[in-house]
Amino acid sequence: MVRRRNFSQEELAILFRGPSVLEDQNERECPACGQMSVRFYVRKSARAGQPTLMNHMWCASCGTFFASTGGYPRGLVIHDRWREVDPDGWRDFKSTLKVFDTLDRLWRRGVLPQSFTQE
Ligand SMILES: [Zn+2]
Repeated sequence: MVRRRNFSQEELAILFRGPSVLEDQNERECPACGQMSVRFYVRKSARAGQPTLMNHMWCASCGTFFASTGGYPRGLVIHDRWREVDPDGWRDFKSTLKVFDTLDRLWRRGVLPQSFTQE
């Protein structure tokens, strides 16, 4: 079990230098530990009647992570195979530290990463 901490502002700046997650779902180099193992998971949610996008980013090697919520990109369609292979687990999604273990397991099984299309 890895001990988790948040990416620092400097590390986030490095991660956000590249293409957006929606353009490139490949693992990225972790600015904290140097491994090519930063992964992403996004989720549609809603706040005050407005659709929002929950972002999860974490390193599978050192456990460093970042989670945020922002505006939902217009027309974005998220293809999430987690929903097909484990509908109950998918529905019970909670954005907690534990979810990163689940996401890593899904990634190892090839269920993740997600893919995206534009409507
Ligand atoms: Zn790392």
